[in-house]
Amino acid sequence: MSTPLISIRDLHVSFHTQDGVVKAVDGVSFDVMPGETLGIVGESGSGKSVTANAIMRLNFGTQVDVSGEIIMNGKNLLEVDDDELRTLRGRQMAMVFQDPLTALNPFYTVGNQIAEAYLIHHPKATKSEVREIVLNAMVKVGIPEPTKRMDSYPHEFSGGMRQRIVIAIALVNNPQLLIADEPTTALDVTVQAQILELIGTLQEEYGSAVMLITHDLGVIAETADRVMVMYAGHAVELANVDELFETPTHPYTVGLLGSVHSLDDSSRGALQTISGTPPSLINLPTGCAFHPRCRFELGENSLCRTEAPQLHAVGKSRSACHLPESQLLQIGAKGGV
Ligand code: SF4
Repeated sequence: MSTPLISIRDLHVSFHTQDGVVKAVDGVSFDVMPGETLGIVGESGSGKSVTANAIMRLNFGTQVDVSGEIIMNGKNLLEVDDDELRTLRGRQMAMVFQDPLTALNPFYTVGNQIAEAYLIHHPKATKSEVREIVLNAMVKVGIPEPTKRMDSYPHEFSGGMRQRIVIAIALVNNPQLLIADEPTTALDVTVQAQILELIGTLQEEYGSAVMLITHDLGVIAETADRVMVMYAGHAVELANVDELFETPTHPYTVGLLGSVHSLDDSSRGALQTISGTPPSLINLPTGCAFHPRCRFELGENSLCRTEAPQLHAVGKSRSACHLPESQLLQIGAKGGV
């Protein structure tokens, strides 16, 4: 088995607010392997984006507590100083944000913005070299007439084209890890498919690993090799994508899959819903954070209410649930119905 490109261990991220401490990420551990696509899925507020931001060290401030380890190329990214961090961002890891309009600077041409990202890591590059790199990056992400368009401003592009520019900026230094945080949410469905295809093609070409954050299970099914499901700041299931869709092993995953349409499976009948709402991250339920909404919960004074379950092997996946393995596999096989 190859060495992970990046290992996240016991990551905690808490925000101090007027109402109390928000535990946005509460002890998450996972690896991303070289060249793979790891999908991270969950409802809003489950901790997906905060986890990604912690890897990029984007959410650090005086009101934020971060602990744990993020090990990449032998270094804990949580411990490197700001100068070193600047040399790692863009080269080791880069990020594509949800909204390309706010990710781009409206006052600079797109060519300048791609060039700036390149020059941070290649300060001695000549003007003509940089121009060549920018044109090449624009061609790779499918911008037509790049010699003309490199002098255009972000507002002169469509949403899909803007996201292509953001991807060009992220990939111009050939990072080992590309983090894409809901990269298609702001785009219409046809453009969404094109952007996902583009990320896949460039991933093959550059050999980068991709961490794809989304709430869209369809996107996960199409693009991911492995999937981590998050709920209330915890990783509740980690599985290969086929395993996850065939035999989900965590009641929350079962609920998620039951709540989306499937064109080729009529056996699950009507769409399921997960009762209740996600818990407050300031006052998380004791035990399993999912217990107030879980229909398999074991009742008063049970482990479900007293002890937080940890990820452990269940079938071919890893699941954080107190139920016996045989029962979880049975629930998954039935799709929770
Ligand atoms: Fe449900 Fe209990 Fe499993 Fe949590 S630990 S998912 S409450 S059965």
